[in-house]
Amino acid sequence: MTNQDTNMDSLEDATPKGPVLVCGGAGYIGSHTVELLERRGVGVVVLDNLKAGHKEAVQAPLEVCDLGDAPGLDRVFAKHKPSAVIHFAALCYVGESVTDPAKYYKENVTNTWELLQAMRRAECRDIVFSSTCATYGEPTEMPIPDGHSQRPINPYGNTKLHMEHMMGDFSRAYGMRFAALRYFNAAGASTQRDIGEDHNPETHLIPLVLQVALGKRDEILMFGDDYDTPDGTCVRDYIHVEDLGDAHLRALVKLQTGTQRLACNLGTGTGFSVREVIEVARKVTGHEIPARVVGRREGDPAMLVSGGTEAKRLLGWEANRGDLESIVSDAWRFLKAHPNGYGK
Ligand code: UDP
Repeated sequence: MTNQDTNMDSLEDATPKGPVLVCGGAGYIGSHTVELLERRGVGVVVLDNLKAGHKEAVQAPLEVCDLGDAPGLDRVFAKHKPSAVIHFAALCYVGESVTDPAKYYKENVTNTWELLQAMRRAECRDIVFSSTCATYGEPTEMPIPDGHSQRPINPYGNTKLHMEHMMGDFSRAYGMRFAALRYFNAAGASTQRDIGEDHNPETHLIPLVLQVALGKRDEILMFGDDYDTPDGTCVRDYIHVEDLGDAHLRALVKLQTGTQRLACNLGTGTGFSVREVIEVARKVTGHEIPARVVGRREGDPAMLVSGGTEAKRLLGWEANRGDLESIVSDAWRFLKAHPNGYGK
């Protein structure tokens, strides 16, 4: 997708018009974005089916509803009259998407169709959407520019790209306005409230490494050390979850002030290897964190680092808490307070 707006705006402390309906707002990135909306005084309603989300993570009004429930969606839109939607609700396990693609196409693609149809019925036209660098597939340019070709290599990435295409087509045909934000590796936890990352099962590197530090796991397994990277382990661009939330607010303001469509990467532009992440976690936690190299995990590209400049140009956005030590410290604080996750 080509971005139509070429103006660089300053959207410092972006405050969108509410109320904003946050689908998947009880999840990891959703709950942090809700926190930010509330802190900026924007009316917010969370819609979540609570299959993966946590009600403990939500302090806003919560509507427990599945996106597949069209009458339920109509009721929520009629009751709260949201002026915009931020859409986080999706399944996100690459491995599971390979073994059960039907589930991913239903939950991600079909349910997004239901959401967009409900928005049309309610005449709500602005949507900010959590896309992913997984839509790029095996990158041919590193760092990855915003306009990189999109050829996903797994069903998860395929569904996210379908969602982007659907929103683009709806935008052109029905005048909806949408922003696709393609995240790199979300990490960290809120600096303001007692919320953080709690996935079940947990598959992400930083929380798993910290679980070793906490004594909940014996060791961290490093998936391959024979990649074509400086130390042989995979390199990723870790981005603080609060910085991600901030970008959503800016993107929404951009839509509300007239931009029809935009897409951009959200990353820091700096990559860290698996070994470097473990090293930083040792420093932050003061624990030894035993680590062992095992075979590669299927489908892992050697390096994923954002080279995008569109987020800065269009949204005036840059990662504020981009250094890995801050990211790991924030995640560590949340994990120590909630060794078994929310509410347990
Ligand atoms: N990784 C690892 N051990 C683990 C989990 C992840 O070595 O137990 C590696 C994984 O191969 C990848 C990086 O850490 O290179 C980040 O993985 P994560 O699952 O956190 O995010 P992804 O990049 O897959 O979205």
